[in-house]
Amino acid sequence: MHDGYDNRTIVALRGPKNEVDPYIPYHFLHEQEPGLSGNIELVNTIFLTGKECVYKCLMCDLWKNTLNEAAPFSAIAQQIDYALERLPAADAIKLYNSGNFFDTKAISPLAYPSIVSRLTHYKRVVVENHPKLCNDHCLEFNELLDGRLEVAMGLETIHPEALSKLNKQLTPDDFRKAARFLTGHGIDVRTFVLLNPPYLTDPKESVAWTLRSIQFAFDSGAARCSVIPVRPGNGVMEVLQREGHYIPPSLAMLEEVMDTALLFGQGQVFVDTWDIGFLSSCPLCFEARKERLEKMNLTQKVIPSIPCSCIRSYG
Ligand code: SF4
Ligand SMILES: [Zn+2]
Repeated sequence: MHDGYDNRTIVALRGPKNEVDPYIPYHFLHEQEPGLSGNIELVNTIFLTGKECVYKCLMCDLWKNTLNEAAPFSAIAQQIDYALERLPAADAIKLYNSGNFFDTKAISPLAYPSIVSRLTHYKRVVVENHPKLCNDHCLEFNELLDGRLEVAMGLETIHPEALSKLNKQLTPDDFRKAARFLTGHGIDVRTFVLLNPPYLTDPKESVAWTLRSIQFAFDSGAARCSVIPVRPGNGVMEVLQREGHYIPPSLAMLEEVMDTALLFGQGQVFVDTWDIGFLSSCPLCFEARKERLEKMNLTQKVIPSIPCSCIRSYG
């Protein structure tokens, strides 16, 4: 087995990017999720069009909707205006930029005041950022905000081999330090944890490592964890699948993670139900099982599972 893939190889295996406009977010939506006190919050999520992330993680496909250079100085604020003119009022806002909000080469700190001026009505503002880029810029942005800041960081997995081969340039300790830095300054932490990262191909082991990673995130101070089932589609993932280093997870695995992690009682757990059709081959139960997971995301309670003849262990 070789030592994994580096930036050059990962980029060389990619297909073309989508055409995006630096003044228009590539997507936005209105959703609901529980607030930290359990009340249901309305959330506006804006997927900003920004500069491609400096990291090149093995499983990432966010580069598809990015620019090669930073968006012009005023463009991020204009994108927020574009989305908010089309979205209803909400309690919280997520600004996801397919990279790291506090990467100053992607978003200049000089743009923070104009961005923040668009966010005055929100109680909570969520941005995404790599743990190694959690620094004084987070504090600077937080100081300007009226609402509470939450930083979403990918821990991905704490499996030593899988994490080092993800090319994320991260250790669990880096994550823990970043989480402590943020929570120590009154900033909440949300964490992304993967189900079936490359190099974890035994279903039982994979579920167990996802659960361990969630526990590690909570122990480090995260208030919530979002579980992302790893999908193919970025070039290198197809190669890994052919090599036997990646298998797509099943819906039953995702259900087991959710059913178990909610019982930890350590923090909120969400599973990403966006485009999870690839997890199931049964048209009879898929929609009902997806709806069950969405209801559990919202209520944070385990509800009875959906019976179907297709369901066997990890079916
Ligand atoms: S740090 Fe995040 S956005 Fe950047 S390559 Fe990794 S997963 Fe993708
Ligand atoms: Zn079924």
